[in-house]
Amino acid sequence: MNQKRIEWPVALFLIINPLITLILTPLYFYKFGFELDILVFALAFAAATNLSITAGYHRLFSHKSYDAHPVAKAIFLLIGASAFQGSALKWSSDHRRHHAHIDGEKDPYNINKGFWHAHMGWLFYKDTVNLKIQAPDLEKDWMVQFQHRFYVPLAILMGFGVPTLIGWMMGSPLGGLVIAGGLRIALTQQSTFFVNSLCHTLGKQTYSKEISARDSWFVAILTHGEGYHNFHHKFQIDYRNGIMWYHWDPTKWVINSLKFLGLASKLRQISHIEILKARLQAESLEMKKKGFADEKLIAMREKILEAQNRMKKLREDYEQFKIDAAKKREELREAYDHKLLELRRELEIAKLEFNMGMKQWQVYLRTV
Ligand SMILES: [Zn+2]
Ligand SMILES: [Zn+2]
Repeated sequence: MNQKRIEWPVALFLIINPLITLILTPLYFYKFGFELDILVFALAFAAATNLSITAGYHRLFSHKSYDAHPVAKAIFLLIGASAFQGSALKWSSDHRRHHAHIDGEKDPYNINKGFWHAHMGWLFYKDTVNLKIQAPDLEKDWMVQFQHRFYVPLAILMGFGVPTLIGWMMGSPLGGLVIAGGLRIALTQQSTFFVNSLCHTLGKQTYSKEISARDSWFVAILTHGEGYHNFHHKFQIDYRNGIMWYHWDPTKWVINSLKFLGLASKLRQISHIEILKARLQAESLEMKKKGFADEKLIAMREKILEAQNRMKKLREDYEQFKIDAAKKREELREAYDHKLLELRRELEIAKLEFNMGMKQWQVYLRTV
């Protein structure tokens, strides 16, 4: 290791925090036992930390896959700072570089330099940590800029100060500091690091065989949905990583919930047909290698895409017809109700006329 090239502040934090945590966590549990409220708080804070990175730093700031309300942005920036993964501006700039130069020399966490380098090794060296910030759109955003300028005090306050304070309110400041502070940071950092290492190692290359990114449900569980990484590298503008409803992607669910609350809008989504096209293209390359004739594959692919198009059209027609039918049914119901009312009214009048006639008749009968 060339000592001059080591980025000491980052390297020391990445070594010292887990080390202290590793010593203090068992000691803490030994002395105070398992305090449920502290554990629940630490777990909730850990989930919020990871989701601020995945839904905020990653899908919002790095990729602009949806628009967020300033309240949502402020929450992502504050809790994101508590993750000790750098400012949103620096994180996004590095991440955009990773996408633009994937698997190449300029990729800061290039998997071809080994699993360890992509995981966290890159964070120890000046040449990979101190890359110039290149994100003009984010530099113009005053909230992002504010978090970047005051990143260190914000990270300490949100990462250690706030959990200690909440722990103190729960009767255990040390529990807050060690479990919801140090341990949470060490574990959530690993979850993010897995995206750059495991997501480029484990799983299937569903949409593009040319890049190292892979899709894996198992890795998705470890990374709050970022495990469908081949899809993500192919379609980075999509706010989802797991496109099927059953794909484990809590980040996508958080973004949907924010939309429901009015805190997110313009969720960007690639069409089914584009996604299917990419998959068929990637798979036909594999089949071609196995000796299948190109013309045959093209013809089959076209047939599938045509059927998909027809299916889409029919589904739309069906939905439209359902709306039209409901409208027609409502109109008819209103007309019939109106007619019924009219008939009832006429009947009442006839009844009245009959009664009056009968009364008059009786009067005549008595006077005769
Ligand atoms: Zn990305
Ligand atoms: Zn990647």
